[in-house]
Amino acid sequence: MSTTLSKPAASDSVTRYTIQAIDQMKSMDSGRDPDLLRAILKPKCEITLEVPLRRDDGKFVSFQGYRVQHNDARGPYKGGLRFHPAVDIHEARILAHLMSLKTAVVNIPFGGSKGGIAVDPKQLTLRELERLTRTFTSMLGDNIGPLVDIPAPDVNTNAQIMAWIVDEYAKKHGHSYGVVTGKPLELGGSLGRDEATGRGVMIAVREAAAEKKMNLKGARVLFQGFGNVSSFGARLIEQELGAKVVGVSSSQGAIYNKNGFDLSGAEAYYRKNKGLKGFAGVEWMTNDELLVQECDVLIPGALENAITMSNAGKIKASIVVEAANDCTEAEADAVLKERGIFVIPDILANAGGVVVSYFEWVQNFSSHYWEIARVRSELERTMVAAYNQVSSTAKERQLSMRMGAYTVAIERIVRAMALRGM
Ligand code: GLU
Repeated sequence: MSTTLSKPAASDSVTRYTIQAIDQMKSMDSGRDPDLLRAILKPKCEITLEVPLRRDDGKFVSFQGYRVQHNDARGPYKGGLRFHPAVDIHEARILAHLMSLKTAVVNIPFGGSKGGIAVDPKQLTLRELERLTRTFTSMLGDNIGPLVDIPAPDVNTNAQIMAWIVDEYAKKHGHSYGVVTGKPLELGGSLGRDEATGRGVMIAVREAAAEKKMNLKGARVLFQGFGNVSSFGARLIEQELGAKVVGVSSSQGAIYNKNGFDLSGAEAYYRKNKGLKGFAGVEWMTNDELLVQECDVLIPGALENAITMSNAGKIKASIVVEAANDCTEAEADAVLKERGIFVIPDILANAGGVVVSYFEWVQNFSSHYWEIARVRSELERTMVAAYNQVSSTAKERQLSMRMGAYTVAIERIVRAMALRGM
């Protein structure tokens, strides 16, 4: 079975960062309940399903499906569903944990969850994909719902898949758009959801550059990736910040030119050829080579564990903005810190998507739909408030931005748990 995204096994840096943040919080404030702090390391519920599928040719197959519900002290569980052969319970557990931290750091009233099916959707026909999605939804039953757990698109899932979930869920529970976010506009989706993660990344780059007094006009920005997040992010960084994108990549390889290239030309080429190889006026290289090229800002926006001990010492950027989840291994993070590289962690940098998911959910409840200008201005306000909160916590306690973000998030979750009497 071919994979759509090569992905090394998760190293569980997320748990290690959480333990590091908890240890630091315990040393600062002896009054905090250490058992409650540690309780957030464990997910509250894990669901494993064997999802059957009758293929178009009549053959019967089945795939493993997962949903890990990590923490719901601050609100219903929230997080994406991915369809990828490498999906497993371990990965879902790590990413659900990350979602609890992400929703807390941007202060939206959700907990964290994650899941998916261990399948390569490119090996299925559209009808098979629909049947598999519907069976998975029906097997999840009451474990998802607008006030229970709200899935969203993630790797290899999209608005069409969310539409099938809405329809299948409605058969047993009645009409309810709020069961998932990232829906098509015709079925209760929100304007601006598609660009939201990329726009949030652009805001994080802008705020980080201002803090580090980096002039972004003409600054060189390198993206790993060129999917939804990176393509919107790259475009907005050029248009709104005046910086120059010098590199992007797909799973087959990367393009780089230290003076930049025609970004919209590269996008059109990528869409037409399903890859970047052969695009004119750039060097062609591997994803690993791309990460260590000359640039001012590096944005890993594709793979988990992109920054490892093999490249952390060679990265040239002075700012790293993590657009992909779980993209820096804990040991490599320590190297970046030692080298004085300013890292904006994933739970802050890529939270724009789930923030607009929250706006979509709010719009579904009120059945009143916002104009794009309102979505953008509320996203701007939410991201800047979160950035400022993380930055001031990091400065006050002399922490990295990652530890600042983890501290803000864990404190919010633990306060909610304590108030509930858990
Ligand atoms: N899958 C996205 C993430 O990892 C969005 C999740 C959501 O909108 O619920 O943040």
